[in-house]
Amino acid sequence: MFNKTGLASNDMVEALLPSKERREKGAYAIFECFQEIPCNPCSTVCKLKAVKDFENINNIPEINYDKCTGCAMCVSICPGLSCFVIDETYSDSEVMIKMPYEFLPLPEINSNVKALDREGKAIGEAKVLKVQDNKTLDHTNIVTISVPKEIFLDVRNIGLEEK
Ligand code: SF4
Ligand code: SF4
Repeated sequence: MFNKTGLASNDMVEALLPSKERREKGAYAIFECFQEIPCNPCSTVCKLKAVKDFENINNIPEINYDKCTGCAMCVSICPGLSCFVIDETYSDSEVMIKMPYEFLPLPEINSNVKALDREGKAIGEAKVLKVQDNKTLDHTNIVTISVPKEIFLDVRNIGLEEK
C-alpha cells in the first residue's frame, strides 16, 4: 500500500512507537518518515540530541526515547510534515496530538473539529487545545488536539466546519 499511495499502514506506525513503559511516561515524538531522502532538520533542530546523529543525509531518523521530551520543535521544522508528538497520558479516555498544520484559517482554541486520517477521511471528533502560529515558531504552525484513545494512531489532520 505504501509504495502505491505513500500512506503508512497501521503496522508501519505501530512499529515506530516507543516501549509501553516510555509511552506511559508522557509525550514522545514519532517520525512517520519511511523513505531515504536527503533531509535532516529533525536531527539538527533537536537540542536534546534525541534524534540519533545521521551518518549521511539520506538516513531515516531514529529517536532516542530516553532523551525526547515531546517539545515539538521537530514538528514545526519538518518539511515533510512527518513529525508528530503524542501524549497517551493526557487523560484516561483521550490522547493529545501535536501536529503540523499548513492551512488557513487556523482553528480556534477550544473548538471541536473533524479528526481526519492520513487519507483526509473524517473518523471522529477532536478538540483544539492549543495553536502555535508560524510567526512564533518561524516554521509550520502547530495545532494541538485531543482525540479519543481508540483513534489516535490514525488521526493526522483536522478539518474545520465550513462557516
Ligand atoms: S519532540 Fe523535541 S526532544 Fe523529541 S525529537 Fe522532537 S525536537 Fe527532539
Ligand atoms: S525533517 Fe522530517 S522529512 Fe526530513 S528526515 Fe526528519 S522526519 Fe524525515
